[in-house]
Amino acid sequence: MSRFLKVVCECGENAIVFGDSKRAVNCRKCKKPLLKPRGGRARIYCRIVEVLS
Ligand SMILES: [Zn+2]
Repeated sequence: MSRFLKVVCECGENAIVFGDSKRAVNCRKCKKPLLKPRGGRARIYCRIVEVLS
């Protein structure tokens, strides 16, 4: 199921990412990867704060 996720990076920066994103997403602030595509569902590398529907 496709969902938007509210995540928080190790550095404390919040971001909204798409759970089935086909593109890697990096933190705006520290540039660490938050999410990487993995054929279908993306792998999340940070803490999920909230699932937005
Ligand atoms: Zn960060």
